Amino acid sequence: WNATVSMLREREGMSPGFDTWLRASRPVGLDGETLVVEVPDPFTRDWVRARYGPAMEALLTGLAGHPCSVVLVAPGEPTPSRARPFPSSDQPQRGAPPAPDVAADEDPSHPTGPGGLNPRYTFDTFVVGASNRFAYSACQGVLSNPGGPYNPLFLYGGVGLGKTHLMQAVAHEFLRQRSHLRVLYITTETFTNDLVDSLQRRSMPEFRSRYRSLDVLLLDDVHFAAGKESTQEEFFHTFNALYEAGRQIILSSDRPPVEIPKLEERLRSRFAWGLLADIQPPDFETRLAILRKRCETSGTPVPDEVLHYIAESIQSNIRVLEGALRKVVTAARLSGAPATLDLAAEVLRDLTESQRRPLTIDRIQAVVAQHFGIEPEELRGKSRTRDVAFARQIAMFLARELTQASLPHIGDQFGGRDHSTVLHAIERVQAAMRADGAVNDLIRHLRQRLSRT
Ligand code: ADP
Ligand code: MG
Repeated sequence: WNATVSMLREREGMSPGFDTWLRASRPVGLDGETLVVEVPDPFTRDWVRARYGPAMEALLTGLAGHPCSVVLVAPGEPTPSRARPFPSSDQPQRGAPPAPDVAADEDPSHPTGPGGLNPRYTFDTFVVGASNRFAYSACQGVLSNPGGPYNPLFLYGGVGLGKTHLMQAVAHEFLRQRSHLRVLYITTETFTNDLVDSLQRRSMPEFRSRYRSLDVLLLDDVHFAAGKESTQEEFFHTFNALYEAGRQIILSSDRPPVEIPKLEERLRSRFAWGLLADIQPPDFETRLAILRKRCETSGTPVPDEVLHYIAESIQSNIRVLEGALRKVVTAARLSGAPATLDLAAEVLRDLTESQRRPLTIDRIQAVVAQHFGIEPEELRGKSRTRDVAFARQIAMFLARELTQASLPHIGDQFGGRDHSTVLHAIERVQAAMRADGAVNDLIRHLRQRLSRT
C-alpha cells in the first residue's frame, strides 16, 4: 500500500488534496485481491475513488503481481464481509527477508516478495554459464534498453532450467532501478484466470486498462495459451497495444514459438518479432556452481566432493538438482553429522537409479492410472467405460512415445491387445491433442511426471 501511494504521488505530483487524503487514510483489511482502505469521510471517499481509483488499482496490480482492487470506506461503513483485518500495529513489515535455508522447501507457486516475485529469483543468485549466457545477456539488453531492439524478448527452454528465475530477476531489477515503471510479472495461467474473471464480472474495460497501461509485461509460460482462443485473442490486443506504445514485453515458453501447438499464426509471428533466446540444460561446471551458490547464500556448508557427486548425478533439471541438495542437507542434519559421500549416495539412490533406469510401460501405467484415479489393472483389463478407455489410449500413446517398445509389445502389455488397437489409440490421442488444448496440457503434464525423478 505504501509503495502504491508513493508511486501514485510520483505520477500525480504533489497536490494539496492528495496529501490531505493520504494523511488521513489507512489500509484496514484485505479480502483476497481486494484491499480495503479507510478514508476520513464519505466525501473524501467519492473524491478519491473518482480521481485515483483506477490508477491505484493498476499500481497495486503491478506491485502484487495479480489483479487487485481497492475498496474505500468511510469510518463506520461496513467493509466487504470476507475482509481480513490487519493486525492493529498496521505497520508494514520492512527489511529484506531472511535468506532461505537450503533445506527449506519452497513452494514455487506462492512467491511472496514485492510484485508477487520470489525474493530469491534475482540476478545475484543466478549462475551464468554456457547454457544460459545468451538468455542472460538478452535480459541485460532489455534492462538497459526497454522497448528497444529486443522487443519482445522470447525466452524458451525445458522445465526447471531457469526461465522463471531469469524473468523475475528482470522484474526485480526494473523495480529496483526504475521504480516509476509499471512492471507486471504474471503467468499465462493467471492471465487466463483474470480474463475469465473479468468476462464474468463484465469488467473488461478495467482488465484492458490494467494490462495496456503497463510499461513492462513479463508473461511466463505462454505455451499454456495453446488452444485457448479467448486468451490468445485478448493477448493479441494487449500485445499490440503495448508494442505500438513502445513498451517492453518478455515472454517465456517451454519451446520456441514455431513448436507451440494450436497457437494463432498472428501471435506466433509476433512472438518472433524481437529476439528468441534459448536456455539449454546446464553443463557440469554450471551445475556445480549453482550448488555452491545455494550453499553459500544460505550459509549451509557442504563438502565439495558431495557437491561434485550431486552435480554429476543429476543432469537435466535444476529444480531436481536443488531438490537433491536439499535432501542431502536434511539427512545430514537429522543424522547430526556433516554430509558425506556415503550419505549422499544413500539418500540419492532412488533419484540416481531412476534417472538411469529406462522408463517402463508398468511405470507409465501406474502414473496414468493414478492420474485418472483408477487401478493400473483396469488399463490392462476389458473395461470400455469412457474414462478407462481414454486413460488406456493415453497410456498407450505415452508408451509408444517414451519407450522403445514396438506396437505388438505395447499391445501385449495392455492385456494382449493387438497392434492395430494400439495404433488406433495413438491416432485418437494425436487427434485429441490437436483438437483440444486441455488434452495437450494433460499429455505435457504426464510427460513431465514421468521424466521427473
Ligand atoms: P523454469 O521456469 O525454466 O521451469 P525455474 O526458473 O523455476 O525454471 O528454475 C528452477 C529452479 O532452478 C529454481 O529454484 C531456480 O532458482 C533454479 N535455477 C535455475 N537456473 C538457475 C541458475 N542459472 N542459477 C541458479 N539457480 C537457478
Ligand atoms: Mg517457470
